[in-house]
Amino acid sequence: MARQAREQNRIIGLAPTMGALHEGHASLIARAKRECSPVIASIFVNPKQFGPNEDFAKYPSAFESDTEKLKQAGVDALFAPEAAEIYPRDFSTYVHVEGLSERLEGRSRPGHFRGVTTIVMKLLQIVQPHRAYFGRKDAQQARLIELMVRDLNLDAEIAVCPIVRDPDGLALSSRNVYLNGEERKAATVLFRALQAVKKELEAGSRDALHLQATLRRKLESERLAAIDYAEIVDAESFEPVTRVAKACYVLLAVFIGKTRLIDNLYLEPKSPGSDHLAFHL
Ligand code: AMP
Repeated sequence: MARQAREQNRIIGLAPTMGALHEGHASLIARAKRECSPVIASIFVNPKQFGPNEDFAKYPSAFESDTEKLKQAGVDALFAPEAAEIYPRDFSTYVHVEGLSERLEGRSRPGHFRGVTTIVMKLLQIVQPHRAYFGRKDAQQARLIELMVRDLNLDAEIAVCPIVRDPDGLALSSRNVYLNGEERKAATVLFRALQAVKKELEAGSRDALHLQATLRRKLESERLAAIDYAEIVDAESFEPVTRVAKACYVLLAVFIGKTRLIDNLYLEPKSPGSDHLAFHL
């Protein structure tokens, strides 16, 4: 399909997912549909990106309703391989983006990003899209994939799409089904903490330590929440900043009970060097 589409000068779009599809995934597909034809979605729960104590074995799966949703969304093809097709028994070649893979998510989940960049590389090779769509909810992942594509001269564009949230602010995630009723309520603390930081930024505060203190205070006010990390980082290097002056992420990883959730606020100056910020929450 890809070869034929390329020969016909059509733009092929790919939206990689791990299934259990929600409106966040749907937003990637909707944008791909606006920009590409054909649009291909993939569903693959990639064993190589889960640590030994993580939720690979119980990761939510809803293949039948997923295929129905993809049909409704007008996806032209679904790539849903078996693990054995992707990883033969003696599989031994990995893609590793040095540095950034070791920070933040990478520190909490050793080996996770090596699994992510390896599977995305393989999906790009197999599907041969012109453009691949990722969500900003996984901001560090999206940045790593941009770096991989640049560093390895891959012939694909990476498009990063905004976070889709429930009406109460919780970022949609396939893992939200792990939350019980009480935890689901508590989980809005991630959004509330990001909003508190946004409010201070709007009032003119730019000191990262001060903003981080607000973030932590808000998160710590929720009994069921345990902070993994809560940082303000440069949007390219993901190194901590002392002042919010150029594009930055306020990044969160928080346990609500046993469920680990991530979220972020993306900030960028409205024009280069400007003190006026655009907020992407
Ligand atoms: P996953 O199936 O969780 O691996 O996610 C597949 C893609 O959907 C990734 O690029 C995610 O960043 C993106 N995604 C997941 N949740 C959301 C969301 N709430 N908003 C936007 N994109 C999302």
